Amino acid sequence: MTANGTATIDAPRAPLTSNGSAPSAAARAGGGEHPKLFQRVRDQMDRAAEAIGLAPEVRTILSSPACEIGVNFPVKMDDGRVEMFSGYRVQHNNVLGPFKGGIRYHPDVSLDEVRALAAWMTIKCALVDIPFGGGKGGVQVDPSTLSRRELERMTRRFVYALGANIGPGYDVPAPDVNTDARTMAWIVDTYAATLPPQERFRALGVVTGKPVSAGGSVGREKATGQGVVDLIEMWAADQRCKVADLSYTVQGFGKVGSWAARILKDKGAKLLAVQDATGAIKAYTSAGLDADVLAEHVKKTGGVAGFAGAQATSREAFFATQADVFIPAALENQVTDETARLLQVRLVAEGANGPTTTEGDAVLRERHIAVLPDVLCNAGGVIVSYFEWLQNRSGAAWNAAEVDQRLREILERAYARVKQMAADKSLDWRDAAYAVALRRIEQVYGERGIFP
Ligand code: GLU
Repeated sequence: MTANGTATIDAPRAPLTSNGSAPSAAARAGGGEHPKLFQRVRDQMDRAAEAIGLAPEVRTILSSPACEIGVNFPVKMDDGRVEMFSGYRVQHNNVLGPFKGGIRYHPDVSLDEVRALAAWMTIKCALVDIPFGGGKGGVQVDPSTLSRRELERMTRRFVYALGANIGPGYDVPAPDVNTDARTMAWIVDTYAATLPPQERFRALGVVTGKPVSAGGSVGREKATGQGVVDLIEMWAADQRCKVADLSYTVQGFGKVGSWAARILKDKGAKLLAVQDATGAIKAYTSAGLDADVLAEHVKKTGGVAGFAGAQATSREAFFATQADVFIPAALENQVTDETARLLQVRLVAEGANGPTTTEGDAVLRERHIAVLPDVLCNAGGVIVSYFEWLQNRSGAAWNAAEVDQRLREILERAYARVKQMAADKSLDWRDAAYAVALRRIEQVYGERGIFP
């Protein structure tokens, strides 16, 4: 049991799916053919820990999440039926500050996946040096099968089930796959309703990524995409080239992929191909695709397939597109042994969390394809979340230029630290990013010690 009485889970169990049937073996194992995502994070931490001679107790502590909350909760559907849903919140580590990380809605959500995503948040926040720990949540659901009202009731009931396990100074969720500002507004409203009336004013900071009109920060919606572009720009400067001269491909055209592409369009880079769950498309000419028009199409139709401004192509041809940069901005396990061999790019800029498998990573290394690892490359989102949380605490409202500039500064410092670590210890950038993060966490454990 946790301090506030919620049962924690020690091992993955087999929750019911939203239609009440038992989940598939793949879903139980953590999705598809890559069953152990959390083990991959542990392996990544071990590699970096080994390389820098990290204090063994830090590795031991980070190899298990601090707290795992699993809830099964009923939701009234529009037709009067009641369905049970399974949701998780994993709180990996909070030695640097409140647990922080998104909530995703996806049919493949599992405890193993949420554990991995929570651990990546711990590494990400430590790496960019913001005062947050790592957490992540998820509900096992395909949100496209729910009406707007069902989605709202499900969100509210999940938040009610989590109860005091989240809070502005304790654990602060945010948007992730298939959740957005509207979801966050429902969460604040529900969380506030669980507090005594005189305390409701402090509810605002319980989540970040809220609508700007309801306590959100300007620049948060595009922040992850903005960060991806900022980092590509830093990499390009190191290669002595300009973003305007780069061509690129994107996998996933949701919040991260579409914003990165729209910002890159303004900078003159050429979008040659896009792939998502609905299909793959490629540009007719080297002038590239119009990211803004494509974003409109995706908003209307739910995916890139059928976009009039491009021609359909295969998934294999998408991966094999010749370009300077590939931005995976969808789900985990996309750059595999097989797809990494297809890539004809100089840089993989990881907008998604965990897009590259261990085998995929080995192929990228062997083929000398540079990687901006997820924990660095997609950190723009949580950095602007931190700005939002600060604004909620102080009552201030920053302007767009201020947000963009402070984001850029934090990313530049993190980029420089990773570059330095990679050079000092002869590490690739993923190992170097982990090494920087682990050193930061080690420092605090060293100073504070371990209770008792
Ligand atoms: N879900 C985003 C991530 O994976 C943002 C998390 C946050 O803002 O707390 O980094």
